[in-house]
Amino acid sequence: MKSSLAFEKEEITRECPLLSLVVPCYNEEKALPCFIKEVQRVMPQIGKVDVEVILVNDGSKDNTLGVMQQISSEFEFVRYVSFSRNFGKESAILAGLKEADGDWVAVMDADLQDPPSMLPEMLRIVCEEGYDCVGTRRISRKGEPPIRSFFARCFYKIINKIADVKLVDGARDFKLLSREAVDALVALPEVNRFSKGLYEWIGFRTKWLEFENVERVAGETKWSFWGLVKYSIEGILSFSTAPLVLSVILGLTFMFLALGGIAVLVARQLIYHNSAYGWTSMVCIILLLSGVQLFCLGIIGQYISKMYTEIKKRPHYIISERSR
Ligand code: UDP
Ligand code: MG
Repeated sequence: MKSSLAFEKEEITRECPLLSLVVPCYNEEKALPCFIKEVQRVMPQIGKVDVEVILVNDGSKDNTLGVMQQISSEFEFVRYVSFSRNFGKESAILAGLKEADGDWVAVMDADLQDPPSMLPEMLRIVCEEGYDCVGTRRISRKGEPPIRSFFARCFYKIINKIADVKLVDGARDFKLLSREAVDALVALPEVNRFSKGLYEWIGFRTKWLEFENVERVAGETKWSFWGLVKYSIEGILSFSTAPLVLSVILGLTFMFLALGGIAVLVARQLIYHNSAYGWTSMVCIILLLSGVQLFCLGIIGQYISKMYTEIKKRPHYIISERSR
């Protein structure tokens, strides 16, 4: 006999395909109403496609949850899930992707920095041009502190040299994904999730759309400078083992230098009988080498710490509340 749940599921038949918008939110009480207003404005331009919005409250400290409750009771096309605490944007994106029922899923920020007005064009591309995904990249970094732009550019140069995946400079997490791509992303079990890399890793035919940087409609960016540094290191560790190779190269270089030094000392002792002088230089060399050793140990430690968090197999997030 069929369970009543299975029966209910079969009942849901759609005439139009469904587009899910996944929106991670952390302290976005001011931006959310503007976002929903803009989605409503764009919806008629999307054509014969139903739209659902999945808001993910990532443990916000302000009244984001209250705003979500109100919006979801007001608009039928809006649902929300709320985390028990802040688990980070990557976990919020994963939760949204798992919740989404759409034939296509778009991941976008709540602050209108990822313009919903691009959605009709993105949908047209997947429907008419045969692409599976549409990515977006900013062609300018207007409004961003120059030092942040500089380090962002350096990060893309480095990671593209050493990582298994190629990242597009200025690529945003704003992407339209086919159902197949979403299923592939959700099936990746890793805890340390670096979405930009994962999007590339799963492959699929992707077209890139470019747009001018837009400033936040309200609220503040959640990224501090050190937050971005940590995020960059996370990206490199997730997709490259080059730092380990670097530590091997450093180790070998200093080993050969030390062997050369020993040969010089032995020769000097044999010829001039005065090899033991210059202890200050010795101290400097010991300090330098112990620094290099600690650096290499640190690199190995970083990988071990990633393995540690993976092995624990804790859930990516805990949902404490969801819309009915
Ligand atoms: N965000 C999140 N959890 C966090 C940090 C950010 O869900 O711990 C959300 C945030 O609410 C926003 C999106 O991720 O919708 C991007 O954050 P933000 O706008 O601060 O990043 P930026 O656009 O400045 O890179
Ligand atoms: Mg933003």
